[in-house]
Amino acid sequence: MPARKERIGTVQGRLTVVRISEEKINNQLTYVCVCSCNPEKEILKTSTTLGAGTKSCGCLYRENALKQLEACRHMSITHNMSQTPTYIAWRNMKARCDDPNHQAYANYKARGINYCAEWATFEGFLKDMGECPEGLTLNRVDVNKGYDLNNCEWANYTKQGRDKRKPKGRQTSKYKGVSFNTKEGKYKGALRVDGNYYHLGYHNNDKILACRYDEKVLELTGSSGGTNAQLKLLSLNDLETYLDERGRTNLLSKEERSKLLANI
Ligand SMILES: [Zn+2]
Repeated sequence: MPARKERIGTVQGRLTVVRISEEKINNQLTYVCVCSCNPEKEILKTSTTLGAGTKSCGCLYRENALKQLEACRHMSITHNMSQTPTYIAWRNMKARCDDPNHQAYANYKARGINYCAEWATFEGFLKDMGECPEGLTLNRVDVNKGYDLNNCEWANYTKQGRDKRKPKGRQTSKYKGVSFNTKEGKYKGALRVDGNYYHLGYHNNDKILACRYDEKVLELTGSSGGTNAQLKLLSLNDLETYLDERGRTNLLSKEERSKLLANI
């Protein structure tokens, strides 16, 4: 242990020893220290606590305690949900992509079907997809693409069967601003405001285009009038999740949100 004077100016973790204090604690020599979390505030540490390797004013301990609490919360989410359809859907998705013993593994591996990095944890999956509505299963919209937010939805078995086949003939979308484009073999989004035409691109998932449509309406008109969400074709949750993903939550004001909620 360095002599008392030599200790001045030394750095230990977040602590810097400033000077020796006049004050004694339990009859021990004390040092005035500052912690990097608040350089303005002087704190006293005894030579014993410094010698024991203390590294902060107490902020490190608090941060670690919070981290542990957060980890426990995540574990309890996972634990409480481990028997739910949402968790089972996630676990099966992982098994198809990761587990060589799964019957679908070889087929998935050969076609390069995988899941996005965020969905490696159940929490990440739950955050994107929400809880599985009763009676629905996890469905990839384009069966040749992997598991991610853009290509997945909760769907019923009938819908899954339809998606497994190549789209044939005329298809329609229930959403406003979305139509099926036979030439591209995909849905197309478009809208017209004040005589201007806006092309919103092509996508296999018409719900995403419906969200794009609503996003554009909100952006151009500053109001939710005539959006898919207002017409109840799209749930407010779907739209908010989409806007959130795009970092555009500001498009839906509190008033618009409560107005839309009141309509649902
Ligand atoms: Zn501190």
